[in-house]
Formats: sequence, C-alpha cells, structure tokens
Amino acid sequence: MAKEVVIIKLTKRQDEILQIVKQNGPITGREIAEKLSLTRAALRPDLAILTMSGNLDARPRVGYFFNEKYQVKRQVERFLLQKVNDYKAVPIVVGKSTSVYDAIVQLYLEDVGTLYAVDTNGHLAGVISRKDLLRASLGNRDLHELPISVIMTRMPNIITITPEETLLDAAKKLIHNHIDSLPVVKDVDGPPYTYLLVGRITKTTITRAYLEVMEEKSV
Ligand code: ADP
Repeated sequence: MAKEVVIIKLTKRQDEILQIVKQNGPITGREIAEKLSLTRAALRPDLAILTMSGNLDARPRVGYFFNEKYQVKRQVERFLLQKVNDYKAVPIVVGKSTSVYDAIVQLYLEDVGTLYAVDTNGHLAGVISRKDLLRASLGNRDLHELPISVIMTRMPNIITITPEETLLDAAKKLIHNHIDSLPVVKDVDGPPYTYLLVGRITKTTITRAYLEVMEEKSV
C-alpha cells in the first residue's frame, strides 16, 4: 500500500522563521528571536515544530539550518496530491460517425494528440489516438468514407479518471497503461460504462502542473 503523505500547514510566524533561516542560516535561536522581536521562550514551540517536521535542521552550538531537501519533497508531495479537477483540460470531441479524414484534420486544427468520440447524449464512446489514425491511413481505404467508430478504442476498454482523483492517480494510469491521455468522466445514470465526458488529462498536463508547483516560491 502507498505510504500516506502528510503535509503540515505552517503558520505565518513559522513561515517567517523559515525565511529568516533560509537567508541567514546557520543562525541561533536567540538571533532568530531578536529578528522577530520575540523572547526565545515564545519562539521555542515554533522551532520545535519546524525541526520535528523536517523543515529545519538543528545542530548543537551551531544553530538552525534550512533543509533544502525537505522543501523539495514537500513540493513534490503537494504536486502529487492535487486534484484532477483543478488541472483538467478541455476535451476535443467528435461524433462517432465522423470520418477518419475529418478526424485527422481536427487533430491538426486543435493541435492535440487524442480525440474523444461521444454519442448523441455526449457520453464517452471512444478514444482515437494519433497512431490509430496513422494505422487506418496505411490501407487503401477511402478515409472520407471510413467512420472513426470502426477504428477507435471503445468501452469497456477505455481507461478513465474522475475529477476527484489526484494527479498521482492520473500519472499511474497513464504510465501503467502506456497511454498519452485520460478522459475525465463523471458517472451518470444509465447502462454500465455510461460516462459524461468533462475533461482530459495528458502527459503534458502532468508536466505543466509539476512545473507550476516546483516554480512556486517554497517559503
Ligand atoms: P499514440 O497511439 O499516438 O501513441 P496513445 O499511446 O495514447 O497514443 O494510444 C495508444 C493506444 O491506446 C491507441 O490505440 C489508443 O486508442 C489507446 N488509448 C489511448 N488512450 C486510451 C485510454 N484512455 N483508454 C484506453 N485506450 C486508450
């Protein structure tokens, strides 16, 4: 089972202390207290929390150090726990009877690698990737006459994700299934595998989210 990730939310004062140690470390408790115009006693609980949580390292007779590795770990954890809902992109959809030719045109116009086919109710019916379209183009078939429903990956073989799942869940599904994108879906009443398509998560989405979190000011 995956280890549970716990992220401690720091108070404003704890953030201030981190900032001071980051800029001035190694620094003693007394020096930190002076900078904040506080007594050492008042500062002690915050320093204990910051040290026990791993934000700061303390060395006897030297002072407090900023723990760079811990900050990176915290950011990675924060990234992995974000919800799919906050990062999902707009899915590019086509009708099931769209021709392979029109689907290829759509792929270029929308600058995406995957299209989603929906039925008349907007329910997810299929996934069409770049290679699906390339494969269909290899034969001598008339691409204007060939509907994507013949070549698409269809239910129940579509790997989906819900808005409430995390980016870590999405990354696992993408990697374990060797696919580039996941349709974000919501359950709706109907026969099994009836899903409303509400977004998409791609490897690019995950990479972008990762960069955003890592480039945020840590403290
Ligand atoms: P590409 O074919 O361009 O490399 P993918 O790796 O995403 O893109 O697709 C590989 C195959 O997996 C294709 O046949 C595609 O239809 C299928 N596929 C893509 N996404 C999914 C998904 N979410 N669930 C099931 N099959 C998928």
